[in-house]
Amino acid sequence: TTQTETELISKYEVLPNYRPRDKFSHKGQFGHSLIIGGSYGKIGAVTLASKAALSTGAGLVTAFIPKCGYQILQTAFPEAMVITDDSETTITNINFDIEPTVIAFGVGIGKHVETVKTFEAFLKTNKAPLVIDADGLNILAENKGLLKLLPPECVLTPHPKELERLIGAWANDFEKLDKAKAFAEKYKIVLVIKGANTITIFNNKQFVNTTGNPGLATAGSGDVLTGIITGLISQGYHTLSAAIFGVYLHGKAADIAVEDSGYESLLATHVIENIGKAIVDLF
Ligand code: AMP
Ligand code: MG
Repeated sequence: TTQTETELISKYEVLPNYRPRDKFSHKGQFGHSLIIGGSYGKIGAVTLASKAALSTGAGLVTAFIPKCGYQILQTAFPEAMVITDDSETTITNINFDIEPTVIAFGVGIGKHVETVKTFEAFLKTNKAPLVIDADGLNILAENKGLLKLLPPECVLTPHPKELERLIGAWANDFEKLDKAKAFAEKYKIVLVIKGANTITIFNNKQFVNTTGNPGLATAGSGDVLTGIITGLISQGYHTLSAAIFGVYLHGKAADIAVEDSGYESLLATHVIENIGKAIVDLF
């Protein structure tokens, strides 16, 4: 077996990859993020991811959601644009007339048969970089044939349960990492293994994050991470850099937020509100 390179990620590792903005920047340079997700009762997931993407620097964000989410999202987050699916309650027909720089798929989406079908059709024609999270991952786990349709360097962000559905159970942490590496290698994906020390795996390298805290064990915090990574890819970061930098910023924003809230009271929204401070803290 080949040796895996390991790197610990703190601000000194992410800083050299930071892309500063110049005075004459315009929003067209920072890309258009498309967040596909949501279902009845789970429009908040898309709202959080959309807010996080724009708060990380995406130029434009469009949410693709079921009709029932239209007023909710436009009201909760006026900075986002919205395209609605034909269905009132779930995603059944992914169909849009914009050219997104990056697409996130899966937050709050559920696993309706029509959602699986339209995702497969979408994957067959999609050329944009892709971030897959939440039920998007569960759909992949239940339809493994879809994995070979993923675009190169696609980002997958499983929490432990989602990872287990994708790669099967493990006996210990060594076996978990071995299986995860084999999986990432096989499908040429950027695999973000979420947890207390999130590990990002790509091409026989592993990047161990050092920011974050138990306050992040709360509803919606993964949706925020998806939005952050999407917002970075939107601006031109390679998917691997975006995953590493995004995981760092997400944890740092949470570290800053808990100075006020404590662990128990941290909300995913507070993480979004502190992304800016996490970026400022780099310098
Ligand atoms: P999700 O389960 O999809 O909502 O994602 C949870 C997010 O919070 C991931 O980014 C995890 O890495 C992070 N997280 C959860 N628990 C902890 C913890 N105890 N310490 C640090 N980060 C955590
Ligand atoms: Mg999640």
